[in-house]
Parts: sequence; structure tokens; C-alpha cells
Amino acid sequence: MEENKLYDLIILGGGPAGATAALYGARAGLSVVVIEQMALGGEICATDRLDNFPAFPDGINGAEFGMLLQKQLENLEVPIYFGRIEKAMLEEDIKSVQTSAGEFTGKTALIATGTEPNLLNIEGELSLRGRGVSYCATCDAAFFRGKTIAVVGGGDAALEETIFLTRFAEKIYLIHRRDKFRGCTWLQDKVLNIPSVEILWNTTVSEIKGENKVNGIKIKQDGKDRDLAIDGIFIYAGRKPNAAFLENLDINCDDRGFIITSSKMETSVPGVYAAGDIRKTFLRQVITAAADGAIAATAVVQKLFTY
Ligand code: NAP
Repeated sequence: MEENKLYDLIILGGGPAGATAALYGARAGLSVVVIEQMALGGEICATDRLDNFPAFPDGINGAEFGMLLQKQLENLEVPIYFGRIEKAMLEEDIKSVQTSAGEFTGKTALIATGTEPNLLNIEGELSLRGRGVSYCATCDAAFFRGKTIAVVGGGDAALEETIFLTRFAEKIYLIHRRDKFRGCTWLQDKVLNIPSVEILWNTTVSEIKGENKVNGIKIKQDGKDRDLAIDGIFIYAGRKPNAAFLENLDINCDDRGFIITSSKMETSVPGVYAAGDIRKTFLRQVITAAADGAIAATAVVQKLFTY
């Protein structure tokens, strides 16, 4: 790590938004640094197949996509640090970010840290997390080969991961609190036609049961309580901004905490940009995150360089 280096742009998060910002920034001559908590590619690395990114007619595995992103940044000699962001001081002209991988300073900063799963906040959810309660099918599906499981949610993630989980589980209860899915039609059509998936409409989960591992759930269906024997539960109840490190920053957000930006990805804090899923936006996809990142880096180039 270069001591006391003042970067043009510190990029918080190495998902498609942050990585694309690094790509565009580096190619335009900015000195950029990427700080990523897990793996380049971020959340997409936990997706079995990315099926809707242009130019991949057969889709691409999420982890492979992440590795390609990393290779592309390495080819450009972009420094990438893996660590947890502890504190971000972004109000001043010089931005400073403290992480478990060291402290970074920059003239501008891009917040591209994405989202994290919402909890159901029910009994047993936290105590049995990792022991049958999961938020990541790609990570944990193999533990449920031949088993009976539940998936909660009705959005794209719940539908997509249910389809993936059918490769492992013998039986899946897909539990949705309403009588219509929120996810896109083509995923709905697929899920509705899988014999091993039983859809429980108008149903909520009120408790996850088990001593050392999940062995059942209590559900409420059309107002009636019922117990269901299952071996595991995958929760896809939407996502919230991954922004705990911004706690003390006075930055404009919507009522759910998603950061409001201009069309150039500028936030309400001068020199601070946001891109990808953490932004208040109409569509949260890899392609839109990448586009946000490209725009943000180009806006930084415009701000710092005079042609
Ligand atoms: P989402 O679209 O917000 O859907 C969350 C689902 O969870 C909704 O069906 C919601 O029910 C349900 N839910 C929320 N809180 C709940 C609770 N407390 N109890 C029970 N159910 C609850 O979230 P997501 O599916 O994680 O997707 C997030 C974003 O990523 C979306 O923009 C999505 O399009 C995108 N994404 C896209 C793909 C893809 O294109 N292949 C894949 C994954 C994610 P209601 O419907 O009743 O609100």
C-alpha cells in the first residue's frame, strides 16, 4: 500500500458499479483505488448464472464474472484492497476512508457498496442462521441435497434462487405473503411449472424452529397457523442499503435509505458519488450498476480534469 497517497477517486465497493467506475476512471487517467469487502463482483459472485447481461448468450456463472472483472482491473493495474470499511469521512474536501486494510484518502469518493438482505425478524432466524437459515442459495444449496426446504419472498431473487435450488432440494415450499409475485414474468412462468415447487400464497412465516438446526417453521396461511416440517429456509425478503459506515454523514437518501443522486451520480455531498444498488433507482441489475459506475467515473474525470 502506498503511504499517504492522495487518490483522485476512492471507490467503496468492487461490485459491477465500483469495478466499472474503476475501469472507466483508470482508462481516463484517474488514480483510483477499489476497496471491496468480499470478492470483486460483489453480490453477483453468489449468483449461479447471470442470464441477462448482453453478449453472454448462454449466461455466465457469477463467480466467473467477478473473476473476469478482477482480471480486467488488474490488467489496468488498479489497486484493489480487500477489507471492511469501518469509517468514511467524506464531508471535507479531502475524503478519508478507514478500513481493515488501511486508511485511504482521495479527492473524490464513490459509494458503491450495494445492499444486504432484509431479515424477517422472527423467532429462530438469528439463532439458527447458518444452521438451516440462509440468505444465499449459491453458498448453501449443496447442504440441502434431497431435503425439503422453504424459500420466502416473491421478488426476482426468491424466484431465481428457487429455480436454482430445485437442482438440490427434493421439495421446495415457496412462501409468499401475497397472491401475486413481484418478480418478472419469465421467472414466474418457470417457477409455476416446476413440479417440486409448491407455492404457498398469502402465507407468512412466524417462527423458525429447531434446537441445533432447523427442523420446521410455523406459518400463517390465510389467517390460520400451521406447522411445516422443513430442513432449511432461504430468505429473500428484499434488501437494504449496505451503508452502516455512513451513519454520521449528512447525505440525501429516500425513506428506505437509498442514496439520491443526480443523473451524473453526484450525491448531495460535494465530491461524493453513488452508483449501483445503493442508489435510489428504478432498476437494480448488473447492467444498470455498471452503467452507473461508468457515468460516475466520467463525472469525476470532468470534475477533476480540465481539457
Ligand atoms: P424485492 O424485489 O424487493 O422483493 C422482495 C420480496 O420479498 C417481495 O416479494 C416482498 O413481498 C417480500 N417481502 C419483503 N419483506 C417481507 C417480509 N417481511 N415477509 C415476507 N415477505 C417479504 O427484492 P429482491 O427479490 O431481493 O430483488 C432486489 C432487486 O434486485 C430488485 O430490483 C430485483 O429486480 C433485482 N434482482 C434481479 C434479478 C434478475 O434480474 N435476475 C435477480 C435478483 C434480484 P411483496 O411483493 O408483497 O412486497
